[in-house]
Formats: sequence, C-alpha cells, structure tokens
Amino acid sequence: MEKRVEKRRIVLVPLPLLGHFTPMMQLGQALILKGFSIIVPQGEFNRVNSSQKFPGFQFITIPDSELEANGPVGSLTQLNKIMEASFKDCIRQLLKQQGNDIACIIYDEFMYFCGAVAEELKLPNFIFSTQTATHKVCCNVLSKLNAKKYLIDMEEHDVQNKVVENMHPLRYKDLPTATFGELEPFLELCRDVVNKRTASAVIINTVTCLESSSLTRLQQELQIPVYPLGPLHITDSSTGFTVLQEDRSCVEWLNKQKPRSVIYISLGSKAHMETKEMLEMAWGLLNSNQPFLWVIRPGSVAGFEWIELLPEEVIKMVTERGYIAKWAPQIEVLGHPAVGGFWSHCGWNSTLESIVEGVPMICRPLQGEQKLNAMYIESVWKIGIQLEGEVEREGVERAVKRLIIDEEGAAMRERALDLKEKLNASVRSGGSSYNALDELVKFLNTE
Ligand code: UDP
Repeated sequence: MEKRVEKRRIVLVPLPLLGHFTPMMQLGQALILKGFSIIVPQGEFNRVNSSQKFPGFQFITIPDSELEANGPVGSLTQLNKIMEASFKDCIRQLLKQQGNDIACIIYDEFMYFCGAVAEELKLPNFIFSTQTATHKVCCNVLSKLNAKKYLIDMEEHDVQNKVVENMHPLRYKDLPTATFGELEPFLELCRDVVNKRTASAVIINTVTCLESSSLTRLQQELQIPVYPLGPLHITDSSTGFTVLQEDRSCVEWLNKQKPRSVIYISLGSKAHMETKEMLEMAWGLLNSNQPFLWVIRPGSVAGFEWIELLPEEVIKMVTERGYIAKWAPQIEVLGHPAVGGFWSHCGWNSTLESIVEGVPMICRPLQGEQKLNAMYIESVWKIGIQLEGEVEREGVERAVKRLIIDEEGAAMRERALDLKEKLNASVRSGGSSYNALDELVKFLNTE
C-alpha cells in the first residue's frame, strides 16, 4: 500500500506569475514530503527555468505561442482559451507513457481550463487558491453582480459603505474588483472561475485562525472539502521566478540599525507608481526621521529606468538615512530584529510573510484582493493602518510615526506577535494546517 502511494504523481498547474507560482511550488514540496512526485506543465509565457531550483519536480513545456500581453484580465481569459488543447495533449501523453498513476491535477483557480480537461479525462482535480478564503467568497458575490448596475450603485455613497450580506465588516467598496475600466471582463472572469469548476476539493494558502467564518461559509457554498494549509512558506521558503537578483547588502545595512526602528517598503513584483507618489513617499519617509529600507524595482515608475526621477539632493538624503534596493530577500528582511514595520501593497504572500514575522503594516493596496487584505489587516486583525487617498508627505510621515513610535503601533505589534505564534503553531504537529495537509493526503489516496 505504502509503495503504491509513493509512486503516485500529482500534476500541478500554476498561474505563471510570481505571487501564484511561488506558493504552488511550496505546496509541491509539501506533497513531495508526503510521498508524491510532482509534474509541472508550463507554457512559454513566464516559463521558469526550474530544474536547478526545484530538483524534485519534473517540468514539461507545452505550447502557448499565441499568448500576447493583453492586460491582466484579458491575458487570463486568453491563457485559458489557448492552453486547453495543448494541456489535454500533455496529460494524454503522460497517461499513455506511464499508466494510470496520476493521483490528481491541482490547478491555480485562475487556470480553470484544467478543470474541463480533468473532467474529460476522468481525473480528480483540485483547485489551489493563493489568495484568501474571503477572496473566494467575494468571487462568488462578484460573479452574480451586473456590472452596469454595480457601477451606478457605487456612485451612491451609502451603497459603497453598505456591509455585504453575511460578510461583516466587509463593505461593497472593499470588494476585490479590478480597476473600473475592466469591470465587465473582470466579472466575467469571476463567473468563469466560479462556474467552470469541476474540482472535488479546494486547497487554500490560508490559516483557519485568520478567517474561520469565511472558511465555514466557503465550505457551505461549495459543498466540497476545503483545506486551509498555509502559510506554506513557513515549512518551505523556495521562491518562484527570480524576478531580480536579491540585494543581500541590505541585510548588512539592517544589521547596523536599532531594533524595531526600520520601516521596510515593498510593493511586490507587479505594482507601479506615479512620479508624484514616489516623491511624496520619499519626502514623507525623510521627514519621519526613521530609517527605511525601500525596494524600488527598476521600471516600476512609468517612464523611468529606476530612481533617477528623484532630485539629486533627495537621493543623497535618502541614501544617507535609508537604503534603496532593487529586490530584497523579503522573508529574511521581515524576520530581521531591526524591522519595526512593513509598508506593503498587501499582496497575500507579503501579508502572510509579515504576519508570520509579527510585523505590523502600513497598507497601501493598489487593486483587487489587496483592498480586501488591507481591510482585514486594519479592521479585523487590527495589525496595521491604511493609507487612503492621495499619497502626501504629511500622511506618510504620520503613518510611519504611528506605526514605529506611537503606543498605537506598539499595540498593533503585540497583536501581530500573537498572530505570529498562532500561525507558527498551525503548521506544527496537531495544528490546523498540519492536520489539513494530513486530511488532504488521505483524501488524495482515496480519490
Ligand atoms: N518579494 C521579494 N523581494 C522583494 C519584494 C517582494 O522576495 O524585494 C517577494 C515577497 O516575499 C512575496 C512576493 O515577492 O513572496 C510578492 O508576492 P505578493 O503576493 O505579496 O505580491 P505580488 O507580487 O503578487 O503583487
């Protein structure tokens, strides 16, 4: 019996974006430790040169040559259309070559074409969500919305602040919509994600103690098992693509700073900034008189290569008082004793990484699910503050001082440290995520 389990293979289908790919690979590592082997079919788009990074995985390249950059939502719809046929061929080949030993296909929730293929080939298939359970519940809410009516309703201030039914404290304005111009295609994507689902279970990179009521609601809505087994990076911190070379000197710089004095700023792997916003950030950080480690990805300010848009005197002051990196070893940075706060765009990976290290946050969500995460950080877990409206230097200065110096920030840090304990306990023997992984493996072996 044990021998048969060891041979079973799982096909993982990640969405080829860093924030989705990384946790999928971490899930793969967890499943390897449970005796499965992992196959990852991937298109040419954002293909990871992975054999060195993930030695236990078998990567297979499948064609997706028609894919063009067409805006984030457009690309996803296109990706789902054009990859279905080549993915089906790939799975057929695998089944032919090695017999019927594919335990299941686990696919990123946005790669819903896999569900159709798995159903046709009669293979068990599971959804993997790299966002929160609350986000999945919202996706259900959004899939039922009519874009025109929603836009008209949202012009009414009362509607914006209305609490979504059974989802207190979530308001309509917190729903994780994409930018307004893309609303209808975005809602269509939500409908596809919700309706083209054939999965027999959902795996989520979240933790029961963070969002137990959303997990209960999701389970009721889907009527299939839901496995919250995050934070996956605690047990395996392998990363996905190398977006950029990590600047390790920033850790040496952190070593020279006082405990809990530094504000770490990073807006993830995709976000962009306006020139004015960057200047206001720089002045606000300088005026706060706190040291800061600021990740600015080259090309993240439209029209500029890197930081040359900042006046020379500002660059001089910024590099005296702080440290600018192009890409940092984020998990290590967040765990460094000098770091007292994290200014984040609230991507789900960054949010989990911050909570795991007990670091309170300044939230500057830019779109979609980040708004939802920011609302949870500020109003549900109470471990951070949101920076709303236009970024202005006074607001930045105040937010940094509130978080790093004021008692209010100290109370947030206490709560963050409490959550840190809970999240670390969740992956230890007997913890909620540890048990969820065991149950998932049992389920896989009975499918
Ligand atoms: N990250 C990193 N170094 C940086 C900035 C980000 O390693 O300088 C990593 C971070 O640890 C996280 C990921 O990039 O795992 C960003 O994922 P997230 O979901 O927060 O945001 P996204 O990039 O998807 O918007």
